[in-house]
Amino acid sequence: SDVVGAHFTRELLETVSKLPETSYSKRALSELISAINELVFGMIKEAEQNDEILDIIRHIVQEIIVNYDNIESIEMDFEDAISSQGFDERYPTIVRSLRKLFSRDIGYLLSQAKEALTRFLSDVILVINGTERPEYYELIFARTVTRILDMYAKERISKEEAYRKLKEERQRVVEIILESIMRIMRPNENLETGSSEYAKYYHRALSTGQYLKAYVIREITNSEEIHNVIMSLIEITEKNEDIKISELFGLVNALLDAYDNVIMRWKRAIISETLKTIKSLRRHFLSHIKKLSKGFKEFEIEQINVRYDEATDEIYILADSGRIRRPLISVNTLVRRALIEDLYRQISQQPERLKVTSDVHARMFFKEIVLEGLITYVLPNDVIDTTLKTFDALNIPWDSNEIEKMRDQIETTLRNILESILSRIRLFGKPKIKPLADELEKDKDVIVKIVLDYISRKDVSIRELALRELNNIRKDLKERKVSWRELIKNGIVEYIDADEEENLYVALYPEDLEDEHTHIEVDPLLILGLSASLIPFPEHNASPRNVYGANMMRQAIGFPFANFKYRPDTRQHVMFYPEKPIVRSIVSKYIGFERRPAGQNFVVAIISYEGYNMQDAIIFNKGALERGLARSMFLKTYEAEEMSYGTPEAKDEIINPMNEEVRRRYQLIYRPQEEAYSKLDEDGIARVGSRLKGSYVVIGKISPERFGGEQIGIRRIDNSTKLSSEEFGVVDTVYVMPSPENVKNMLVRVKVRSHMVPEIGDKFASRHGQKGVIGLIVPEEDMPFTEDGIVPDVIFNPHAIPSRKTVGHILEMLAGKVGALIGEEIDGTPFSGTNEEWLREMLKKLGFSYRGVEVLYDGRTGKRFLAEIYMGVIYYQRLHHLVEDKIHARSRGPVQILTKQPTEGKSRHGGLRFGEMEKDCLIGHGAAMALKDRLLDESDKTIIYVCAKCGNIADEQKVGNTTRVFCRVCGNTEDIYPVEVSYAFKLLLDELKSLLIFPRLRVGERL
Ligand SMILES: [Zn+2]
Repeated sequence: SDVVGAHFTRELLETVSKLPETSYSKRALSELISAINELVFGMIKEAEQNDEILDIIRHIVQEIIVNYDNIESIEMDFEDAISSQGFDERYPTIVRSLRKLFSRDIGYLLSQAKEALTRFLSDVILVINGTERPEYYELIFARTVTRILDMYAKERISKEEAYRKLKEERQRVVEIILESIMRIMRPNENLETGSSEYAKYYHRALSTGQYLKAYVIREITNSEEIHNVIMSLIEITEKNEDIKISELFGLVNALLDAYDNVIMRWKRAIISETLKTIKSLRRHFLSHIKKLSKGFKEFEIEQINVRYDEATDEIYILADSGRIRRPLISVNTLVRRALIEDLYRQISQQPERLKVTSDVHARMFFKEIVLEGLITYVLPNDVIDTTLKTFDALNIPWDSNEIEKMRDQIETTLRNILESILSRIRLFGKPKIKPLADELEKDKDVIVKIVLDYISRKDVSIRELALRELNNIRKDLKERKVSWRELIKNGIVEYIDADEEENLYVALYPEDLEDEHTHIEVDPLLILGLSASLIPFPEHNASPRNVYGANMMRQAIGFPFANFKYRPDTRQHVMFYPEKPIVRSIVSKYIGFERRPAGQNFVVAIISYEGYNMQDAIIFNKGALERGLARSMFLKTYEAEEMSYGTPEAKDEIINPMNEEVRRRYQLIYRPQEEAYSKLDEDGIARVGSRLKGSYVVIGKISPERFGGEQIGIRRIDNSTKLSSEEFGVVDTVYVMPSPENVKNMLVRVKVRSHMVPEIGDKFASRHGQKGVIGLIVPEEDMPFTEDGIVPDVIFNPHAIPSRKTVGHILEMLAGKVGALIGEEIDGTPFSGTNEEWLREMLKKLGFSYRGVEVLYDGRTGKRFLAEIYMGVIYYQRLHHLVEDKIHARSRGPVQILTKQPTEGKSRHGGLRFGEMEKDCLIGHGAAMALKDRLLDESDKTIIYVCAKCGNIADEQKVGNTTRVFCRVCGNTEDIYPVEVSYAFKLLLDELKSLLIFPRLRVGERL
């Protein structure tokens, strides 16, 4: 086998040496050869002269040598080959070394691509910031125009002559501008001619240049402003022989202004076009990398993002923002596909003109390679606007002279492009289509003619083309001929992030499509995020309400996971009887909200009730609550770990510290309240099912007594885990397990469950951002009722509706009512939900008022309410802000050491903040004593001694039973008086002193 290997290598080296002197660097070649050597030896070891694999490798190696630049297709061939033959398992070494070879080459390609990108960007920045601004030419043009008009005014030339001169001058300027653009856009000379990077780069530059060309010509020739000014200039000079100079100057200034506008527009167009080109280049670049890196795990690349800052006139290239991408339908792709289809039909309808048509391959070749290639070049891809604008530009009515000139240009371009496509295919094409390229050579003229005829037709509408293609795709989707994956692969659907969307113009519906649009929404629903798309009828709400609603949805208590019993989350809320919404958006089905809902369908009446539902308060039906409405449980997990501290004896122990034997053995001296330990079992863990309340111990634990990290003796201290003073509940689950941090330590987790029945102060919200807290719970018999005896679960304040404009809320109530009555779910999908008229019609059919109102009777008096009350069924969510967790009060308690003011927060048993606004309120009411009580007496009141002589704070010195006061500054002992101040004030004085500022207090009224 060594002989075979040596032979192969020699053959290979011979092939390489026979290659003409190309531009490939020597290093790349030698790398290649060494890689091939590796490959061959790997092959010999494993393949054992397997002809099959030898063939493949030979083929691949040859391909690598021939088209080093076109490594992408080889890589794909390679992947295809190994996957179809199962080489992956059979010859892992060979496959691995081949992959390694590819990845090395890809690295080289990438560095080239990066370089090209950088150069391109620097050119682009030059265009925008550079000295060669087109305004210069515009000024020259304006002056020339003035001169021509001047000549005409002085009757040195005729009107026709002036007009002709104007036109000539315009053409000249246009050409100068075009030339300068093309110069800027010319590919970088450092790129190797003929390399794939060069081709790509040139293609981009060409498409940008083409776009700009079309744009500038149209802007200048078609600018109505300019045209009007010139016409009125001619008119004035024609009619009035004694033309006023000032008038003429005014008009010339207007002309200059008009030109400025054109230039502004033009500059903007350049910038946006450049950005788009860069973006598409980036996208292309990334997709290229993605394709290449398929199968190479070690390959990672950061995403690139391009942004233009208008303020600084700079282009930024940023790392990916990591934004979520959403699918949009690309108009560009639609148009391109339709164009190709059209052209193909045109060509296939005239078989007599073509020489290659019968063969199936020829058809494929035409459609997929030649036409696609032509369209890609003539109507450049990726940059949708370019396509549209170029196409548009080609269709605008010019005089015959110009159109003929354009025709020639286009024809030459077409011919060149076709030639380059064919030559590329001859060089790199698959074996099947290579010979076709030669055949097609004969049809070149016919194809060019047909394409030219087609694109100069005036009856082709971008909109129609796109819509036609869209309908075809729809049909295919319906018949399942095409999959979503294919749509993405073919570029019909693009995933675009929020930044990229900045430069797009998206049509909401296909019917809205205009020539300026770049994309179409797949469904307007996709504008919304996940939470917002769950809101029914959001298009009827004011937008901030939808934002609030989407936010509150995240706080709803529901049934988030079915395995909550086995999850040791620190805190979890679980609703007892969650319901799926009667009025739902289709999204809820796809995200599994219907399997894990978070809310219930409430019967809601919109009336006020004795002021207990003022503002956003809601009234609850006590009967409904007792039947389990909105009831939930709260699960909290406590844990304790048996830690070890160095020596085997120095270890925590989970045990009941009340056990007499334990106490004796470990000399536990501390004897706490016995009751707190009453729920512990012998093992030191609370029994499942036992009821715990404030400060009760859940897990008993003793720890070695330590001093400064050192363990002392056998004495132990109580280190049990307790509930905090306000907590309560029943032991739900006990988990005993090894600690994840150290498997030698035992970890105990105890989950305590508490029952949360809705009470006054608990927060509820509908999905329309209408939140509120329970203001009153009314006995069922006192609630209003309908003549059918229906009692609402909730009473909602009518004033919450008009100012917030949550029409969706009203609509959902209506839809919920219909749904509840007919026993069906109602579709409230954003932008396409159930029709309101239908809902009203249904209500009428069901014997209810079509307005959704009902006659209600007062539960307390039995009297009928004068007004008819709007009542319906709506999905309500219980939010996890439970009053149980928030209610808090204190009289006296812990204070901060530094300020001597009460601590903050419920968990620290803190005081309630009496803030700025509260203070203002008391001042406003003149309640001075109440203010003093809050801010001084019940806060940080202190008595300090002030020296009346020097104004310093005097010192206190306790000698035996008597206290001596003296001034440390002046030594005064007589003239010292006690003063009541807030401790924060004394702190301020002390801090001032620390800054070497000496504040003096003047004692006014001496008591
Ligand atoms: Zn003093």
